[in-house]
Amino acid sequence: MLSELQALERDHVIASYARSPVQFVRGEGPWLWDEDDNEYLDFLCGISVTNVGHCHPRVVAAVREQVGRLMHVSNLFYTEPAMRLAKRLSQSSLQGKVYFCNSGAEASEAAIKLVRKAHPSGDVVVVYGAFHGRTYGALSATPQEAKQAPFAPLVPGFRAVEPTPEAIAGAVDANTAAVLLEPIQGESGVNVLSGEALQAARDACDEHGAALVFDEVQCGMGRTGTLWAYEQTGVTPDAMTVAKALGSGLPIGALVTAPHLADVFQPGDHGSTFAGGPVVASAALAALEVTDDPDLLARVSELGHRLQAGLERLPHVLSVRGRGLMLACEIDIPAPELVRRVLTEQRLILNATGPTTVRLLPPLIVSEREIDMALERLGAVLAQADGG
Ligand code: PLP
Repeated sequence: MLSELQALERDHVIASYARSPVQFVRGEGPWLWDEDDNEYLDFLCGISVTNVGHCHPRVVAAVREQVGRLMHVSNLFYTEPAMRLAKRLSQSSLQGKVYFCNSGAEASEAAIKLVRKAHPSGDVVVVYGAFHGRTYGALSATPQEAKQAPFAPLVPGFRAVEPTPEAIAGAVDANTAAVLLEPIQGESGVNVLSGEALQAARDACDEHGAALVFDEVQCGMGRTGTLWAYEQTGVTPDAMTVAKALGSGLPIGALVTAPHLADVFQPGDHGSTFAGGPVVASAALAALEVTDDPDLLARVSELGHRLQAGLERLPHVLSVRGRGLMLACEIDIPAPELVRRVLTEQRLILNATGPTTVRLLPPLIVSEREIDMALERLGAVLAQADGG
């Protein structure tokens, strides 16, 4: 029962999360069910994780098959799923090699270590509004005062600038190891970096011999209508980080490099006991196969336009931004309160990324009908909201 779980949390769980008062017990496609069998439409996807829907049959089958045969041996030995996944990941993107880890933050750590090893004691240029994770290296690359300040001192060697072409170009010099960017910032409320800013980063890195690293942890895996968000920008990075939807609900992350960075790490440089284990790698292979489908990806763009147009017509919505099915709207009433009401009154799951910003990350397999249903549910609460 929810009340029992809340008591257990109060007494035994470190309070680093503010949970909504719902206990989910089952999921299928874009739907979740609570303990009383109430049905919720999930337009958050566990923060862009269940991109192919909850419990996709191909992912479930792959995990079931693997989990009954072999769960873990460590990276001291070979298992097939990780090797096959590495091939699929690199061939779908930067053509180099892959390092596996267990989360987005760990993928950031791997990227930071790799570019520092390639360019000893070089700086990493990052931009304001970025989010790369909560571990020390990733947090040091996340220039947000509220997240960083309680945990000082941070890792040195990060330089934060505005995400403009001029600022990025001005920050890169011979002492720069890398520029690390999310092509579309997720946690700060779906901010699409301009094509000019990405191109300026590419040019500056080329001029000064630095690596351009894209964090595709949230915007990758089909979320924006191409398998990787960078494919729509005209700029190709030297490395990218992936996690979240890669495992479709199981914890796996990866750093994918271009060929010229593929051999920077040598045995002993980096590692993790669980990384690329056979169960998570099997899940990821299935999720990647389902996602890397031209028909599915084309639908993401179409559905994104439908959702964006529908949002723009709702009361209290001032503007909508984003790409594909990674959208946020700016509203003229408090977003956290709205998201709470939409959850409890309409059983639609959304998320507030700021005082007036609502983020929508529906599954890529959502139907037109479900998009319209979400718009109706959100619209019903917005129509009742006062003020603005
Ligand atoms: N990078 C980006 C762009 C993210 O959105 C996140 C998480 O929200 C991370 C990194 C960190 O990922 P994780 O929470 O798996 O450590």
